[in-house]
Order: sequence, then structure tokens, then C-alpha cells
Amino acid sequence: MTDIKTSAKPTATATKRPEIWAVANQKGGVGKTTTAVNLAASLGVLKKKVLLIDLDPQGNATMGSGLQKTELPYSATDIMLGTTPIEAVIQPTQVGYRLIGANRDLAGVELSLIDMPRREYVLKEALAKIEHEYDYILIDCAPSLNLLTINALSAATGVIIPMQCEYYALEGLADLSGTIERIREVLNPDIKIRGVLRTMFDPRNTLANDVSQELSTHFGGIMLETIIPRNVRLAEAPAHGMPVMFYEKGSRGALSYLSAAAELVRTTKKKGLNKGSSK
Ligand code: ATP
Ligand code: MG
Repeated sequence: MTDIKTSAKPTATATKRPEIWAVANQKGGVGKTTTAVNLAASLGVLKKKVLLIDLDPQGNATMGSGLQKTELPYSATDIMLGTTPIEAVIQPTQVGYRLIGANRDLAGVELSLIDMPRREYVLKEALAKIEHEYDYILIDCAPSLNLLTINALSAATGVIIPMQCEYYALEGLADLSGTIERIREVLNPDIKIRGVLRTMFDPRNTLANDVSQELSTHFGGIMLETIIPRNVRLAEAPAHGMPVMFYEKGSRGALSYLSAAAELVRTTKKKGLNKGSSK
């Protein structure tokens, strides 16, 4: 482990609302979890107070943060079922942020939610009790638009969309924008696309370059400038239970996620969001 340390601990003094970002894309394997974990760690390095919520029964963000998904005392399941207060579910990590973990139990929650009143707002209402303690709350979503993801999108102030520069990327992004537009109309008027992040980018690949260019042309306003390269350290770090900047802080993967976090913080401030920052 490298020597990056953060002392950012939640305090109860802040009164502002944090940025709450759902990291979402219905397509599987595009880098959602890698983005959620490494942005959370990067924001921690920037001394922000961060909560990462794993809302995927795969529990990859939990494992990638150094916690054993099978040994969690409480998990996101308890929040979604209302069986444990959210304060008790939040776990400390060694990697600069706090975590609400998940495991396969979460897969059964959807059925129970169906009969619940205000079933789309369970997460939002639980977060309302503790959100003021954080600068940023990130939610790692599963690769589907299920009721858990709808809960994430109902709670979120913004969506971060990780995307690979492949042949169907433009069509996929158009679909996703339409979905978020519908969420805005029906469930959450505050939600916006906070940024589309190009992931696993290989600059030697001509198609990837073409698609990246097309994305900039058609979706310029919502594309993040930072591009995440394909980097083997990013793929290795989860096996060691740590974000890449703790595994190999000088790697291109670490530097690119730090740069994406810095861009998000900078542009969030510029847009007048998250006024009265923590430090
Ligand atoms: P799912 O839809 O199953 O939740 P996901 O969208 O969360 O997947 P990840 O798990 O983050 O995607 O990434 C998929 C795989 O690609 C993982 O093995 C991950 O380690 C690897 N990976 C992600 N980003 C990169 C990158 N920039 N360079 C190299 N490997 C990467
Ligand atoms: Mg994932």
C-alpha cells in the first residue's frame, strides 16, 4: 500500500447538501465500479468527505474498497428494507472514504420493495438523515435499470456515465440520456448528467478515436475532458482491496482518476453547485 493518507472524517457541522452522484450505465463492464471506487478515493485525496454506496449485489465496490462483502455487519440491504438505521450501516475504510457495502442479499430486496410505499425514494429518504456530513456521495449502480438503480437516480443530484468508445456508444448514450430525462420528469427534477467519462481508452485504436471524437461532437456539453486510459494497474488494484492510487499512486490509471476528480470538483464549483466547500 502506498503512503497516501487522508484524515477526512465526516463532521456534523456542515449544513449544505452534498453532490450525490450515481455512477450508472445499463451496459455491463464499462467501468462503473472502477470509476466509483477510484473517484471516491481521489476525492478523499483531495480532502473531501466522501461516502461510497455499493448498490450492486455483486459487491465489487465493497471488495475494491478493502471490505469483505460476506462479513459485513450491515449492508445496503438493511437500508433498503429499513431494518437498521443508516448511521449503523456506514463502515470506515482504510482508503479515505466511508462505505455502505453490499452483497448478494441485495438481489432479494427488489421483490420486497415492490409493495413498499414510496419505493423509489427509500434511499433518498435514508440519506436525508446523514447527507449533510459529506461533500460527495457516490453510488455504484448495477448494470440494469432495476428498482435499486431507480432509487439511486431518485436520490442523485447528478449522474456520472462511464462509457467505452465502442461502435454502439453513441446510440447507448442517446438511450441513456432519454432515460435520465424521463427520471427528471417523473421522479427527480434535480437530476442532471454530471459527466460522461470515457473509460478503458486505447489511443492506438482508430475506432476508439473516431467514436471519442463523435461523442465530443454530439454530446460536447456533457463529456468530461479527462479520458481514462486502459491501464493494467486499474484492473489489478481490486484484487488487493484498494483503489489504484493506494496500489500504485504513480500509475496512469491513478493519475487519470485524480485528474477526473479534480475536473469534477472544478466544474461543480464553476456551475455554482456545492457552495461553501468543506475546507
Ligand atoms: P458491471 O456492469 O458488471 O458492474 P462495471 O461497469 O462496474 O461492471 P468494472 O467492474 O469497473 O465495470 O470494470 C470491468 C472490468 O474492466 C474489471 O475487470 C476492471 O478491473 C476492468 N477495468 C475497468 N477500467 C479499466 C481500465 N481503465 N483499464 C483496464 N482495466 C479496466
Ligand atoms: Mg460494477
